[in-house]
Amino acid sequence: MGPVRSTCPYCGVGCGVLLSADGEGGLSVKGDPDHPANFGRLCSKGSALGETVGLEGRLLSPVVEGRKTDWDSALDLVASRFRDTVAAHGPDSVAFYVSGQMLTEDYYVANKLMKGFIGSANIDTNSRLCMASTVAGHKRAFGTDTVPQTYEDLEEADLIVLVGSNMAWCHPVLFQRVLAAKKAHGTRVIVIDPRRTASCDGADMHLKLRSGSDVALFNRLFAEIWDSGALDREYIRHIDGFDETLAAAGVADLSVTGLTEAEVAAFCRIWIGTEKVVTVFSQGVNQSTSGSDKVNAILNCHLATGRVGKPGCGPLSVTGQPNAMGGREVGGLANMLACHLDLENPDHRRAVRDFWSAPAMPEAPGLKAVDMFRAVGEGRIKALWIIHTNPAVSMPEADAVRDAIAACDFTVISEITPETDTARLCDVLLPATAWAEKDGTVTNSDRTISRQRTALPIPGEARPDWAILAEVGRRMGWSAAFDYESPAEIFREHAALSGIAGGFGRDFDISGLADLDDAGYEALAPARWPIRAGRQGGRFFADGAFFHPGGRGRMIPVRYRPPAARTAPRYPFRLNTGRIRDQWHTMTRTALSPRLSAHLAEPYLDIHPQDAANMALAPAALVQVRSPEGSAILRARITSDVLPGELFAPMHWTGETAPSGRIDAVVAAATDPVSGQPESKGCVVAVEPF
Ligand code: SF4
Repeated sequence: MGPVRSTCPYCGVGCGVLLSADGEGGLSVKGDPDHPANFGRLCSKGSALGETVGLEGRLLSPVVEGRKTDWDSALDLVASRFRDTVAAHGPDSVAFYVSGQMLTEDYYVANKLMKGFIGSANIDTNSRLCMASTVAGHKRAFGTDTVPQTYEDLEEADLIVLVGSNMAWCHPVLFQRVLAAKKAHGTRVIVIDPRRTASCDGADMHLKLRSGSDVALFNRLFAEIWDSGALDREYIRHIDGFDETLAAAGVADLSVTGLTEAEVAAFCRIWIGTEKVVTVFSQGVNQSTSGSDKVNAILNCHLATGRVGKPGCGPLSVTGQPNAMGGREVGGLANMLACHLDLENPDHRRAVRDFWSAPAMPEAPGLKAVDMFRAVGEGRIKALWIIHTNPAVSMPEADAVRDAIAACDFTVISEITPETDTARLCDVLLPATAWAEKDGTVTNSDRTISRQRTALPIPGEARPDWAILAEVGRRMGWSAAFDYESPAEIFREHAALSGIAGGFGRDFDISGLADLDDAGYEALAPARWPIRAGRQGGRFFADGAFFHPGGRGRMIPVRYRPPAARTAPRYPFRLNTGRIRDQWHTMTRTALSPRLSAHLAEPYLDIHPQDAANMALAPAALVQVRSPEGSAILRARITSDVLPGELFAPMHWTGETAPSGRIDAVVAAATDPVSGQPESKGCVVAVEPF
């Protein structure tokens, strides 16, 4: 038997992998030469996957209040506590906090259980910390959450602009494709980022703008598009909002960017003068109280020039997680319905409710992540189920989130290890299957659905997430609706529901896969949606057809707003947080690999030489970073990679008690008013020698 074809569980590039088990629990991992995301390439994290699959530290039995128990007892307890809490306090007294690490089939069952049967929209996901601003920006401009571009567009482009994206570390294989295109065709690369990152090594230009000022820069670009006559007048006949957008863009004050007129003029000249331009954006855009506006400022420029959805030409958001897109497709955010339908549209609600034969369907959005944990802390959420994520480390105001989970009446976590900061707080621990034991699908950043396939036997009493969720649904009284026997069955149901969405003129339609039999599902090759009967793929928006009523698109007038918190003598620095090359999230898996841990061995703080000199800070000194929300202790790295007055710290390190390297304890939970995404790249802090 040959190797198992599966997908890497880390970033949103969604690389294909070939897995060979050694029969003793070990796994060798190679890049899949036939996968359209990576064509055999892997980055350091993907190639070290085999070092992370051991059973040491795994959660292998259900645990209730610190004691091992059997599945029946644990599931009865979970079902009865959720049922009783809903009966006593209503459906909005319970919540699920889920994860882009879940497979689409797992996500689908979780969303169906909460929205259709429990009757609340209180299901949100760590994708809220990742892509919510892009979802909001897409919906405002296009009428749906549609990514118009594909990875091949990077090879077709003549200019690639990376905005708030350290692609070299966060989406490394995609960056390899960018560098290969540069070598082959001389593609120009511009990086727009307050930090000098590894991505600048391959760039022709780096605009080191001040944190949070992207709207001012792209508004200037928009005004220059108008002034230079580069407007695509034919294309914008399909778009509303041009006059208002131009009026807003015309007042752009460049001084907030910290860039010179000459730098901005050069950028505008190249962008406007290059027809085939792909603007790639990521967390530096999204994780902001003006994240949605930043997304729309970028989309406005592409709409104004008709550069959307064409070969080598358009905006491309790159997601953080392996299945952030799959979660969006099943409606796994508190303000979305399944299959890109709208929760607040009565016709959409009725269609999904009828399809599920559901007894209940919320009419209003549920609590987004930050509000959800506030509600937990205030006792309004009384039963909480967390699945494959570690909010006690990764949520902003992590100390308050930790305390809220600890004080909640009833908490459940589905996990692969009991050794996370969040798992230690929960009443019930449910052992879930890990990446190489799972079976299902994921969707990457360019709408490609790929299979994750089982390569290792399921250890101990671990179970797949879809099976755990379905069993709880059955025990809560909904046997027929959750009578699933395989992920293939769930996938077929999801695909059939997407056909209904397609009937409403939605973008997400994979109804062409609704009749896949089990063998077809097993053999499913990577496929990009939409996938209708006999038809796959296709481009969006190049023809000027959008998803707003009347088929029109929209430019959104946006104005620069500074980050929520202002620096002040007490908190004089602006803190940016983010990923490093060789760790993933809160290090549950990547810390198991010695070679990944060797890259950057401890939590650090990048600080400009001028600021370090003002504090008489020695290189590699320990520093305490403080905000009103909490503190962390980090190793100072004195570097002009960051601007004076700005700092950078990685997000990965954990720790049970402050002070520690747990940087999200410091980050304030200010959120974007449209998307609810927290400003993880712009809080204000004090720094002092420790
Ligand atoms: Fe995995 Fe992303 Fe690396 Fe590809 S680029 S191997 S998906 S971490």
